[in-house]
Amino acid sequence: MTTTRRKGKKTQHRKVPPKFIFVVGGVMSGVGKGIASSSIAKILQARGLTVTAMKIDPYVNVDAGTMNPTEHGEVFVLQNGLETDQDMGNYERFLNIDIPDINYMTTGSVYASVIRKERNLEYGGRNVQVVPDIPAEAIRRIKNAAAVANADVTLIEVGGTVGEYENILFMEAIRMMKSETPNDVAVVMLSYLPVPGSVGEMKTKPTQHASRTLNSTGVSADFILARAPIAVDKKRREKIARFCNVKLEHVISAPDVASIYDVPLNFEKGKLSDQLCGFLGLQCSQRANLSTWKRFVRSTQTAQRPVKIAVVGKYFNSGDFVLSDVYISVLEAIKYSAYSLGLQPEISYVSSVDFEDRKNLKKLKQYDGVLIPGGFGTTGIAGKLNVIEYVRKNNIPYFGICYGMQLAVLEFAKNKARLKDASTAEINPKAAHLVIDIMEEQKEKLAQKDMGGTMRLGEYPASLKKGTIAAEAYKKRTISERHRHRYEVNPAYIQKLENKGVVFSGTSPDGTLMEIMELPQEVHPFFVGVQFHPEFHARPLDPHPLFTAFVKASFEHIT
Ligand code: GLN
Repeated sequence: MTTTRRKGKKTQHRKVPPKFIFVVGGVMSGVGKGIASSSIAKILQARGLTVTAMKIDPYVNVDAGTMNPTEHGEVFVLQNGLETDQDMGNYERFLNIDIPDINYMTTGSVYASVIRKERNLEYGGRNVQVVPDIPAEAIRRIKNAAAVANADVTLIEVGGTVGEYENILFMEAIRMMKSETPNDVAVVMLSYLPVPGSVGEMKTKPTQHASRTLNSTGVSADFILARAPIAVDKKRREKIARFCNVKLEHVISAPDVASIYDVPLNFEKGKLSDQLCGFLGLQCSQRANLSTWKRFVRSTQTAQRPVKIAVVGKYFNSGDFVLSDVYISVLEAIKYSAYSLGLQPEISYVSSVDFEDRKNLKKLKQYDGVLIPGGFGTTGIAGKLNVIEYVRKNNIPYFGICYGMQLAVLEFAKNKARLKDASTAEINPKAAHLVIDIMEEQKEKLAQKDMGGTMRLGEYPASLKKGTIAAEAYKKRTISERHRHRYEVNPAYIQKLENKGVVFSGTSPDGTLMEIMELPQEVHPFFVGVQFHPEFHARPLDPHPLFTAFVKASFEHIT
């Protein structure tokens, strides 16, 4: 793309039309389609191209905000407040860009638009049909996202796996786009090659079946990313190429790697960006510039001194398994800050329910810092309050995010301000002292059960108080952070809490909403709570200043 200036206005002349890369899953889910998509986007960005990434979730839910985190993973909030899938966070982190809401769609949101347009007579009274109108709406959104980003390449990840009933209309969208502009669309299928223990050999058959299932939708793969526990050898790549109608150079070995951040580098070993640029006729720089990325990956390997952080949450347990996906942005944010300080993060996932029994609290001594992330509802609250009291009294660095901030205020109100019957309206709306109360504009929404996409969502500015931990960390006085909450610090208790030593170091610019609370460093080495979600802004190449301050304080706490 070249840029010229005409009458002071920037005009862009694209030498080649915008290109689209679809990433679909074969064989099974959970083998890193989101990371593969982010990594493809990353290597193309490293070739000097403007790249954006999208996610299609085949659920009927209009957005991810109403989904249970243990089932769906983290809800990632975009700048403008849309509640989306955690993969959107991966795209933002890998590409180091903010992604607009047009880049996320679900079956529910696509149908909602089509139905709204039909009601507005936008289809001119004709028969509105599932096919082609639903895929056509998906295509309109995809092209719109490309235009908004002025992208040379738009990467579109389709959730689920091929052959699922749910995503069939999105496969049809791919087919329609491909038949319209075959040279501008590439389809990448992420597959999995198991090595069954009893056989001891890597099997290509599930990939062959997946390819056939994909073909039955009228779409064929141009590239196959062959995920496997170990590198996929030439013999098997040849077999896949032959049976799945894909060029041998388009079958890329994608073995398990130590860190997700190695994946783009690994793809480059297979010359994937060369192959994609060649296939789509993309004009780009000769070599991928991944030097800062490589430096980051190196820092993850060279960091020696450990820093032990406990993340106390309630969404970790799923049957016999421990899930950490629910807090993925928080965990990654801790890591980026630790690496930037030359420290090796050792993160423990601790269930808050365990601390309902006070006898277990002394286990917290082994950690250098404790973080309580966002959450909802009553489960695990008693344990979290016990944890906060313990770390406050034992000078263990504490970082509370959203609910973690509200509960820190609540614990302080109960135990320091002596408001014995203090609570949050989320737990006990009838309590005598609602130090955390429902926000005025949320009351009606809650009463009418208008729950989807109605919290205080997205980015809002905050002003910081000079000389506080927050202001020192950010090194500026005005910040902008992403939110997702219905409750807030009750203004009626601010004075009382301040009199007892709480510092509200960040507030909304008009001073009415308490955005950050902290205890002075003379009292506690690091005790900070934030009403917003700083984790959504943390990037590998740009760690978040508050996380860095917390990790630094945690490390200093041990040394
Ligand atoms: N449940 C709290 C609220 O709605 C906190 C939300 C969160 O932690 N994201 O205000």
